[in-house]
Amino acid sequence: MGADAIEGLLDESRTFPPPPEFQANALVTGAEIYDDANADFEGFWAREAAQLDWSREWDTILDWQPPHAKWFVGGQLNVAHNCLDRHVEAGHGEQVAYHWEGEPGDTRTITYQQLLDDVQRTANALKELGVGKGDRVAIYLPMIPELPTIMLACARIGAIHSVVFAGFSSAALRDRINDSSCKLLVTADGSWRRGNVFPLKDNADEALAETDSIEHVLVVRRTENDVAMTEGRDVWWHELVPGQSTECPPEPMDAEDLLYLLYTSGTTGKPKGIMHTTGGYLTQVAFTHRYVFDLEPDTDVYWCAADIGWVTGHSYIVYGPLANRATSVMYEGTPNHPAEDRFWEIVEKYGVTQLYTAPTAIRSFMKWGDEHPARHDLSSLRLLGTVGEPINPEAWMWYREQIGGGRCPIVDTWWQTETGAIMIAPLPGATTTKPGSATFPLPGISATIYDDRGNEVGVPGGGYLVLDRPWPSMLRGIWGDEQRFADTYWSRFGGGIYFAGDGAKRDTDGYFWLLGRVDDVMNVSGHRISTTEVESALVSHPSVAEAAVVGRADAQTGQAIAAFVTPRGNVEGDEALAKELREHVAKMISPIAKPASLLFTADLPKTRSGKIMRRLLKDIAEDKELGDTTTLADAGVVDTIKGRYLDQP
Ligand code: ATP
Ligand code: MG
Repeated sequence: MGADAIEGLLDESRTFPPPPEFQANALVTGAEIYDDANADFEGFWAREAAQLDWSREWDTILDWQPPHAKWFVGGQLNVAHNCLDRHVEAGHGEQVAYHWEGEPGDTRTITYQQLLDDVQRTANALKELGVGKGDRVAIYLPMIPELPTIMLACARIGAIHSVVFAGFSSAALRDRINDSSCKLLVTADGSWRRGNVFPLKDNADEALAETDSIEHVLVVRRTENDVAMTEGRDVWWHELVPGQSTECPPEPMDAEDLLYLLYTSGTTGKPKGIMHTTGGYLTQVAFTHRYVFDLEPDTDVYWCAADIGWVTGHSYIVYGPLANRATSVMYEGTPNHPAEDRFWEIVEKYGVTQLYTAPTAIRSFMKWGDEHPARHDLSSLRLLGTVGEPINPEAWMWYREQIGGGRCPIVDTWWQTETGAIMIAPLPGATTTKPGSATFPLPGISATIYDDRGNEVGVPGGGYLVLDRPWPSMLRGIWGDEQRFADTYWSRFGGGIYFAGDGAKRDTDGYFWLLGRVDDVMNVSGHRISTTEVESALVSHPSVAEAAVVGRADAQTGQAIAAFVTPRGNVEGDEALAKELREHVAKMISPIAKPASLLFTADLPKTRSGKIMRRLLKDIAEDKELGDTTTLADAGVVDTIKGRYLDQP
């Protein structure tokens, strides 16, 4: 093991080859595609790019001057054309693009032809509001059809969208608008939140009081609450858009023109405006969406249950699925409104074939109990996906059995806002999976593991995950902050090596296991231990639904492990169970990983995208002032835990 590498302690030996029934109709069933891509990765990506419509052929596949990559240089294309016109021209105008399901139960069915018409009308409305190529448009909308519509309308005319998650505060919106001087804001009167109206427009107005770049606000009517409209600035969508012409020719864009900015969620600090461009991005999201989800556009009903406010929604609700002519489900609400079986009701109603969600959701479903999915016919499902955090093997098994009926392959997909598209994941018809492993880098992608000094860690072994070759959908920069771009991702190891900020290990078979953020790695008596493995050991106990661990300062061992545990369904957390769980961890992985303290809690502090915020738990465990809490989904959770933590004997 190299210098300060991360120790891999958890040993997971269950394996799941692709089910024969799945494999019989799968797009990829063998390893040739990996060999192909390895032989010539630029040629591989060029062949994938050629699946799209280009109005001008590129001159150079890749221009790589670390840390700056340009893909398909000289080529021109339009993203909206590739997502819409192309399919309508090929005779698929009547195919459903989105089955949209509103939170209150209202629905809309939108075909490719309708979406194309709506996008052209909206693009003309943008022009009327003075928005043109290169202008930034802030979008602060709930999960309604107008959201993909406005994104595609921007793409059609070459405006750069910056979507801000509708659950974010006015301060978050203000900062994002100001950072990139957005000219237009698109919002709604309100959004539905478990039957209540969240006043989106009021929030937007608050943000606008401290911004001066916005010229107009385009407002969608959704919840019909009263809102103030500022004369000359604010315009109703339903008054401006429907009357526009459905003719708006797509603007030819350079492959390297900006498509969008997306600010990372801020799990760790001040959000960064991640820049994504046109040609390489669309190439990789289309490729990964098709192959990782084994998409069959004529028969599948695909559902990515993320919010479009996150990169997962950009790449796998909007751009990837539309580029591939998928029929998708889009859902406005939460998984437990009006009841804890809403997801399963939707799967049954639309005959969903692929479901893509996050470990945090899966652990909630486990906590709520098996009876909710059991009430519904989920037999249409043929593949399950997960993204956002490492998935604990036990949550993976639960997903496989309770949702997938034991028959669906699971694709655990590792990627980031910065990577734009999936990087490490199985190909479901070809890869034997292991619960909790994202398996291997996709064809055309190269990833490896370094130790602290930048030496490659052999197999088996753990350390820092790096990407040692450029990829088409990689970020092109951080808006307005070249230095931070270089420092954050490229200076750790130098030489064009991308530092992902995540720990990982490879087992003896070369499988990748993500170990959580390197900032969260614990150091106990000189052993560098990942949070993920200790959490997974806890979750493997039948009484546990979810767990978070942190290393708190300890005079004796450097750090000691503090665990926060959410019991399953009707289990009561008591002293006896705490003792049992600590022993369980010692047995499952090692006595050095045994939590020094363990607190039961009904909830864990999470970001609005559902990720556990360990740094706040660490502050609690060390009895420090809490760090930045602005991206917390529910501030009450930390207060409760803090109070109870101090009460502990
Ligand atoms: P910020 O960078 O602002 O702190 P963030 O990292 O939470 O925010 P995202 O880009 O949405 O924002 O998340 C990417 C991160 O999520 C990865 O770096 C990794 O830590 C985690 N992640 C995503 N998918 C997986 C996965 N399949 N397995 C393990 N970890 C994952
Ligand atoms: Mg990140």
